[in-house]
Amino acid sequence: MQMYDVIVVGGGNAAFSAAHAAYDEGARRILLLEKAPLEWIGGNSTFTAGAMRTTFASLAELRPLLADFSDDDADRTVVEPYRASDFRADMERVTEGRCDPELTTILVDDAAGALRWLRDKGIAFRFMPERQAYEVVGKLHYWGGLYVGAVGGGEGLMARHLEIAAAEGIEVRCESPVVDLARGAHGAVGGVVVGSADGRETIAAKSVVLASGGFEADPRRRAQYLGPGWDVAKVRGTPYNTGEGIDMALAAGAQPYGHWSGCHSIAWDAGAPPTGDLVLTNRFSRQSYPIGIVVNRDGRRFVDEGADLRNYTYAKYGAEILKQPGAIAFQLFDAVTAPLLRHQDYGAPGASRAEAATIRELAKMCGIEPDRLEETVRAYNAAVQPGAFNPAVKDGKRTEGITPPKSNWALPLDRPPFLAFPVACGITFTYGGVRIDAQSRVLDGRDRPIPGLHAAGELVGGLFYFNYPGGSGLTSGTVFGRRAGHAAARHAASA
Ligand SMILES: Cc1cc2nc3c(=O)[nH]c(=O)nc-3n(C[C@H](O)[C@H](O)[C@H](O)COP(=O)(O)OP(=O)(O)OC[C@H]3O[C@@H](n4cnc5c(N)ncnc54)[C@H](O)[C@@H]3O)c2cc1C
Repeated sequence: MQMYDVIVVGGGNAAFSAAHAAYDEGARRILLLEKAPLEWIGGNSTFTAGAMRTTFASLAELRPLLADFSDDDADRTVVEPYRASDFRADMERVTEGRCDPELTTILVDDAAGALRWLRDKGIAFRFMPERQAYEVVGKLHYWGGLYVGAVGGGEGLMARHLEIAAAEGIEVRCESPVVDLARGAHGAVGGVVVGSADGRETIAAKSVVLASGGFEADPRRRAQYLGPGWDVAKVRGTPYNTGEGIDMALAAGAQPYGHWSGCHSIAWDAGAPPTGDLVLTNRFSRQSYPIGIVVNRDGRRFVDEGADLRNYTYAKYGAEILKQPGAIAFQLFDAVTAPLLRHQDYGAPGASRAEAATIRELAKMCGIEPDRLEETVRAYNAAVQPGAFNPAVKDGKRTEGITPPKSNWALPLDRPPFLAFPVACGITFTYGGVRIDAQSRVLDGRDRPIPGLHAAGELVGGLFYFNYPGGSGLTSGTVFGRRAGHAAARHAASA
């Protein structure tokens, strides 16, 4: 039987990062096993905007990462430094102090080096003005600690990963769902079992890296772990992340870790298909709610749309939509805010929307209780306080005397035509998973590494609880995938 140095399970950003790192560390017999057919390789990573949170002390430090960034571009760019201490503070704030301290230190300290490593591998980056900046007096003001992304978005990122892997001689097999881990002496992992219509094939390896995502695409596991109602959430990305990687690791003695009843979920076009669409990918996202208001079918507001910059609220507001009657909500805008909508998403082909000259008419078109909606908008408009509106910063332009408040960007909704975008809860990925150490080795229930088993990406628990700073998932996949690949190759060399 052929013996591989390293088998990587999964075909997203974490998996390819691990495979490249194993190659860097000297492994040459590397096999990457992807459950999905070739057109779906890349998992959720393909569906992303390619946005990656990184740290830097100045624009000058960030510039070498960027392809095609001229001096003129630099003159137009206003960006605050974002240091490891800022990233850590954001992680601690949004996870309510629960993020694992050791894993968080690694994530924030390794982020910049991980992106430089990807660049050196051949993955190009760019600023993302269309997502992360507002134009204020002729300059692009970036906001929210997330500024750069892979050229070509998630599709570009994964296409490059595949090309780089081919050049490294990494063997990639699609339609190869891993269904079990092969165990050797003393519980060491010595390979994997691939299931197929023809039966089960055991493939031997000195090290295995699990990078097969979370369980967000399995309605049964969602209901089981996230709670009632989660089975009806829409899945934003791949239908193939159904949690087997986590189950295999647990069966091998791995320690369950992290926020098992928590997940990343956002406002997602209510008319989107039940699972991800490879053509429109993330264009069902409805992320401009901080400049509008959000109401439920009863015509009531239920979140502070302006509690924080979008990158720090969007990942927890999907769950709030799921709790509403009919698990549906409506984002409302008017002629003043409509030009500020993220047009590539709100204007996507087939986007669900309604437009009307009055709030009452809009309510009727959407099936919202019209008297209540008129009253909600009247009370909201009356509560808006004076102040200068600036979408690029927390401008403090707020409401007073209504519940919930709107803490920033509170403009009255009074200039027709009025727009409504129906939104559902779109689940992105789950937060619960297995516990790893600093070398991405999977730990057992007594905090001991399971020999030969490593993990990275969405199936690692302990980083995200309740909420998530936008752009951290890909960075985490590369940071821990890289560590997993290095450690797996070292383990293979010594085995
Ligand atoms: C619409 C959308 C937009 C997003 N935008 C961003 C963004 O801009 N920036 C950001 O940082 N994050 C974003 N995210 C989150 C991001 O996708 C994840 O955090 C990250 O991609 C996870 O990478 P991964 O490699 O762990 O998982 P994935 O990329 O999902 O890869 C897991 C792979 O494992 C395969 N697999 C599953 N089970 C098995 C098995 N049994 N055997 C073999 N293979 C298996 C799957 O088919 C899949 O290819 C977004 C997610 C979505 C859905």
